[in-house]
Amino acid sequence: MHGLTHFQLTTSDCIGLFDRLSRIYADMDRAYQQTAEFYGFECHGCSDNCCRSLFYHHTLIECLYLMKGVQELSHDRLGNVMSQAILLPDENHRGMCPLNAEEKCLVYDFRPMICRLHGLPHEISLANRPPTQHPGCGEFDRLCSSQPRHFLDRTPHYLALARLEQDTRKHFVYSQRIKMTIAQILMTFTVEIP
Ligand code: SF4
Repeated sequence: MHGLTHFQLTTSDCIGLFDRLSRIYADMDRAYQQTAEFYGFECHGCSDNCCRSLFYHHTLIECLYLMKGVQELSHDRLGNVMSQAILLPDENHRGMCPLNAEEKCLVYDFRPMICRLHGLPHEISLANRPPTQHPGCGEFDRLCSSQPRHFLDRTPHYLALARLEQDTRKHFVYSQRIKMTIAQILMTFTVEIP
């Protein structure tokens, strides 16, 4: 488990790094929407949705942005979230994300990349690696598997996020490897925002 890591952010971090991330997220949301519309697919949640899945998050910028959203929760709400996060200490544990309440994401605008892109068939072509194609989630397959495949290309989104992550780590002089669930992010990072 990681120790508590506190970040004191400046206004220019928020304007520079966070604004770049929100533009990258807007591009992802658009790409998701276009692909979903191609299939006529709408996610209404299911017993195996992304909020119940074990996902790891790897970027410092996404952890900090998520914590910005968490910081905006009310005191009581945050208390509930943290007590649920503590109940999910085992990184192999699959359980409802502590930031999901009544089937809704409490930090919807701040949610990480994988929460935005999960569920649709996608492809990735990164330099020096063979391109890969991946299926959609179970619910997508149930509803849309008979349709011709149209893959959401995650490549430009991964590349834009990787560039931003490089700049973020350089800015904060941060070199630790990150592989964390949402519960672990909640228990690892705190942010102070101007
Ligand atoms: S951050 Fe929000 S969208 Fe992502 S898993 Fe948690 S509740 Fe779901």
